[in-house]
Amino acid sequence: MLATSSMDITISKAGQSKLRDLNLDNIPFGKYFSDHMLEADYENGEWKNVEIKPYQPLLLSPSIAALHYGQAIFEGIKAYKDAEGNPFIFRPQDNFRRFNVSAERMQMPSVPEEIFMEGMKQLIALDANWIPNKEDHSLYIRPFMFSSDELIGVRPSETYKFMILLSPTGPYYNAPMRIYVEEQYVRAVPGGVGYAKAAGNYGASMYATAEAKKKGYDQVLWTDAFEHKYVQEIGTMNVIFIIGDKAVTPDLGAGTILAGVTRDSALTLLEEAGFTVEQRAISIDELIDAYKAGHLFEVFGTGTAATISYIKELRYKDFVMTFNVDEWRTAPTIKKWLTDIREGRREDKYGWMTPV
Ligand code: PMP
Repeated sequence: MLATSSMDITISKAGQSKLRDLNLDNIPFGKYFSDHMLEADYENGEWKNVEIKPYQPLLLSPSIAALHYGQAIFEGIKAYKDAEGNPFIFRPQDNFRRFNVSAERMQMPSVPEEIFMEGMKQLIALDANWIPNKEDHSLYIRPFMFSSDELIGVRPSETYKFMILLSPTGPYYNAPMRIYVEEQYVRAVPGGVGYAKAAGNYGASMYATAEAKKKGYDQVLWTDAFEHKYVQEIGTMNVIFIIGDKAVTPDLGAGTILAGVTRDSALTLLEEAGFTVEQRAISIDELIDAYKAGHLFEVFGTGTAATISYIKELRYKDFVMTFNVDEWRTAPTIKKWLTDIREGRREDKYGWMTPV
């Protein structure tokens, strides 16, 4: 290993690849990690020790701040191979921007583009063999940052670690979902951290989701904290409704919804498909009225992990809306277009695919 200036990335390679022992067909989501990881330290107001090294455990003090007060954020991105086997990342610049939006809200330092983007590209270039070369397969990229001061005291940490892990993933099994419209528990409030990809948001969502699962539902559709009337998002997905000739989704204005990259991509493709796209408040009453009138045609979730997930049932109190997803035309088209763009079968006219 050579000594380098603070922003240069030091690379130390793994002796032997773990890939030999792994079948990249139909691998479960998030369970296996590639040979290398990126690690960088923030100290005395600057990022240093940017290093790509063999994937390995961290040695940390039990007193580090992240474990106690939750200054921790993350991102989720995917890399693909095109028909010629060249690696591409889907819209990483958008995740980079969102990461630093999350960092700001959690009173954490921003990560420079050179470390986030260059580091990610170098890591993927090194582990390019880990991108499965199969339809519906990809390499999931997990950048994250956590506070690392060894101090039991509630204040922003002075030191942080930024890391990137890579995890190969097979087709995300997403059977059409049954969704419970949540009216008791809340995910986000105006002025809160709902728009940040903060680790605590996910921990905080698990109880309500477990309760919904006990009732036979896959996920909850969160509603606003005050009236439990306006819909927000689902689990780790944004939600889009096809009502008549419009594609309607909750707007981001209140800061209670994560600005999904897949949401933005799907809205762009829905416009291309001729839909009028509306981002605005959507009440459960409006959805029920549209359903009763026969205008609520499709409901689906969007997110990096599953791309597009169909919703076959939406339950609000005792009112159950059901959908025959086999008859849908729109969500399957958008899903196919998105997958085809990512895997190089459809023209990337919006410049979403970033070469490694
Ligand atoms: N909402 C939440 C709460 C999420 O965690 C995610 C996944 N990142 C999304 C929506 C979808 O965002 P994206 O399309 O960028 O993955």
